[in-house]
Amino acid sequence: MASRSRHSAYDKTALVAGGAGFLGSFLCERLIDEGFRVVCLDNFRTGSADNLVDLRRSPRFSLITADVCAPLPKKLRADRVYNLACPASPRHYQADPVHTLMTSVMGARNLLELAAASGGRMLQASTSEVYGDPDQHPQTEKYWGNVNPIGIRACYDEGKRAAETLCFDYLRGRCVDARVARIFNTYGPRMRPDDGRIVSNLIIQALSRRPLTIYGSGNQTRSFCFVTDLVDGLIRLMEVDPNPATPVNLGNPEEYSINELAVIVGDMIGSASPIVYQPLPSDDPQMRRPDIALAGKLLGWSPTTSVRQGIARTIEWFASALDADADDVGALAASSSGLTLPAATVAQEAD
Ligand code: NAD
Ligand code: UDP
Repeated sequence: MASRSRHSAYDKTALVAGGAGFLGSFLCERLIDEGFRVVCLDNFRTGSADNLVDLRRSPRFSLITADVCAPLPKKLRADRVYNLACPASPRHYQADPVHTLMTSVMGARNLLELAAASGGRMLQASTSEVYGDPDQHPQTEKYWGNVNPIGIRACYDEGKRAAETLCFDYLRGRCVDARVARIFNTYGPRMRPDDGRIVSNLIIQALSRRPLTIYGSGNQTRSFCFVTDLVDGLIRLMEVDPNPATPVNLGNPEEYSINELAVIVGDMIGSASPIVYQPLPSDDPQMRRPDIALAGKLLGWSPTTSVRQGIARTIEWFASALDADADDVGALAASSSGLTLPAATVAQEAD
């Protein structure tokens, strides 16, 4: 991994936009450990002050509450700009789709300008969503994707695609040393209980002995990466020389159907929760698995946490979060029970 001596972090400032979020807070902690001064900029739409409790004890950490769509503080400078500002869960990015699109486009532009004024580097947190519902499997960085530009996921997918475009235009114009990480489904402690995502939903539902919700047939697949592995990949991509000048996939290529994941989580928790099948939201991709050969070659990176290890650590975290506020278990389980969808279409008892 990038060590203090390799990139002399001690005299450098890293700005993490979206640093109060799930991935961002882990990234801020890791950057502080690496010796950076860290400035977190966040509007707290989906982020939380709880994620920053330990960070705020460090004299090398500071917080700016601001929206990346608005002009950024004029004197702000950073050697490293990480742009993670954007809600990641479908439930949250679809809640205010116009703001989501603007966050990706205006946010990337404002942060690229800041990086240009600073003579610094910028890393854009892009997503496997740029591949849409892919007709190439696994997905390599050369694949251009299959995105519905007017669907309910478009505010996120097209926003992220436009942000990638901006990064490569700034790079070609020699204005900014910009890098793009295409992040696949990442999970771990500090996911919001009301995120509505598959890993957090299944864990909360199984812990609270509620039915496990599966949308569609459950045969759709995803690949799940543990948060600390992902953060390691982000920092490697930011620090590698020369600039790879290509997006780089970061994710865990272990691929599971949603049905398989429900069985794994149910078994690990020892839960007899039944599975309820609900309608599949529109444009929900049928399969996702990153080809990470490029990350291996350019960054020497691959995930080291297996899905079972990572899920175990995530279960432990949610279990203690639920224990800490036992009265909220019902509310959390209810908030994890899915989108506002009609009643279950099929119900099936788990063994
Ligand atoms: P998150 O919702 O926990 O974090 C996003 C953070 O950005 C939050 O703290 C939120 O308050 C902040 N934010 C949102 N809009 C903002 C704005 N306009 N101005 C300032 N701050 C704003 O999500 P996450 O899972 O931590 O994802 C972080 C980044 O990684 C996102 O850009 C997301 O698109 C990307 N990503 C995440 C995943 C994943 O599986 N978690 C997958 C692919 C890409
Ligand atoms: N999903 C599900 N039940 C849930 C939440 C999600 O079956 O309670 C499905 C969802 O429809 C998708 C997959 O799980 O097919 C992954 O969803 P998630 O929201 O985690 O991420 P994304 O679709 O953005 O990869």
